[in-house]
Amino acid sequence: MVGVSGVRGIVGNSLVPEVVTKFSAAFGNLVHRGKVIVGADTRTSNDLFRYAVFSGLLSVGCEVIDIGICPTPSAQLMVEKLKVEGGIVITGSHNPAEWNALKFIRPDGLFLYPEEGERLFCLYKKDEIKYVSWNEIKRVNREKGAIENHLEKVLSIVDREKIAQKRFKVVVDACNGTGGLITPELLRRLGCEVLTINSEPDGFFAHPPEPVPSNLEALSRMVKSQGADIGFAHDADADRVAIVTEKGNILPEDYPLLLVTKFILGKRKGLVVTNVSTTQALDDIVREFGSLVKRTKVGDINVSRCMKEERAVVGGEGNGGVIIPEIHYARDGIAAVALILEYMADSGEPISYLVSNLPRYYIIKKKVRFTQGNFSFLKDQLKREFYKSRMDFLDGIKIILNKGWIHIRASGTEPIVRIIAESKNREEAEKLCNLGIEKIMKISNSIKRRKE
Ligand code: MG
Repeated sequence: MVGVSGVRGIVGNSLVPEVVTKFSAAFGNLVHRGKVIVGADTRTSNDLFRYAVFSGLLSVGCEVIDIGICPTPSAQLMVEKLKVEGGIVITGSHNPAEWNALKFIRPDGLFLYPEEGERLFCLYKKDEIKYVSWNEIKRVNREKGAIENHLEKVLSIVDREKIAQKRFKVVVDACNGTGGLITPELLRRLGCEVLTINSEPDGFFAHPPEPVPSNLEALSRMVKSQGADIGFAHDADADRVAIVTEKGNILPEDYPLLLVTKFILGKRKGLVVTNVSTTQALDDIVREFGSLVKRTKVGDINVSRCMKEERAVVGGEGNGGVIIPEIHYARDGIAAVALILEYMADSGEPISYLVSNLPRYYIIKKKVRFTQGNFSFLKDQLKREFYKSRMDFLDGIKIILNKGWIHIRASGTEPIVRIIAESKNREEAEKLCNLGIEKIMKISNSIKRRKE
């Protein structure tokens, strides 16, 4: 799958080295043949695509700096540290082992802005790539230290002594991804007793790498049986994190953002940024501190960009991606781990207690096929259906009702419409989500009838 949001696919099927090489060459043109760092996650296809990326970059006159296997946030920090023109990370992120993809990094360590992604795709599609001759080809240089650099950055923003005094017992499930190369070491330097599962960085994932509750049963059992204080899980490139409490409860994906936000705002007030689909609980927490939440379109680059422009103090997404500007404007699962431990040390309370003090909402997500016309037509019709309610059109359509909200948006890649609903109780959230689906089906059927 190739498009403005990059390139991703199933290895040996939709993702082949030719595509990766050409895309990398286009990126080399985009960054004016500068220095580009290349990192990768632990997937079995990492060497296959590393050499393809090297080829593409070298073919257009870039100098390649190979930083090896490391988390995506570590690579983003290296781009900033080495002051290079860009970076490419080869990672399928939270997708299963057979997937892989490229993430493109700007000189400031953020991912490409949507308009830059479009320029990149245009270079690729129109065959406008300019290759260099033999005497302009540069080298691949190796650079160690991406993980150490990241570790030091994270350690510099927390109270190491305070955390170390608690001698926390922590279980880490790195899902055989890059998190296993950094988080256990971070925890040891924070004086924790560390137990790991799935920490072999071999790309054979013990469970699907998306850090959602259904994938974290083994971590939960381990935390409970070992009497640990907390458990953490990462996806394959460790930009996301999920939490298991000392009681073995697997927390919903949005808790890392809620906990870190509450902790940071306790130290310093300021703007919080998240996307339009994130839980209302965030607004409730932020209101207590007299601060504000600004919402962006879905997609982590939109959140990062807004945070940088508006000088936010914390932000992120409800999928376990937390952004700490003190380190960088990028989702960073490793930084989130350190801050959550500092919150526990600072409060002197177990994680289950900190969680019990957070506002509780329920989110239900569903999707339906919508093939009758385009999404903007559907949006106009939905506006009519909900004309009595408050609405927001930042990204798709969000209908704000007394009992909660319904957010309806088109998928970028398939003829599917996603419906997300939230309410204070589960049945109500379910009802709201079904109401959204009902309205879409009603509109879809009326279009069908008119066509007949
Ligand atoms: Mg990821």
